[in-house]
Amino acid sequence: MKRLILISSVVFLAIACEKKSDMLENANNLSNVKVENQLDPVCEMETSKHLGDTLTYNGKFYGFCSSKCKTDFEKNPQQYLNK
Ligand SMILES: [Zn+2]
Repeated sequence: MKRLILISSVVFLAIACEKKSDMLENANNLSNVKVENQLDPVCEMETSKHLGDTLTYNGKFYGFCSSKCKTDFEKNPQQYLNK
């Protein structure tokens, strides 16, 4: 019985540890990042579901599904923003 308690506290510690490292890695985890645009301006995917990269342009924080869309946007931002 004692052994069972020990195991469950180890599991609990492992979960707590994982949560802590999640917070530390927040800078690289875009799932909680709020961006200005609801849709990727390039491919029009929902940024809340497919956020892969971000960019600050004209003081606004834009999200993109991938670094490829970000690169396309950077080449000609106005073309995408005036759509
Ligand atoms: Zn995209």
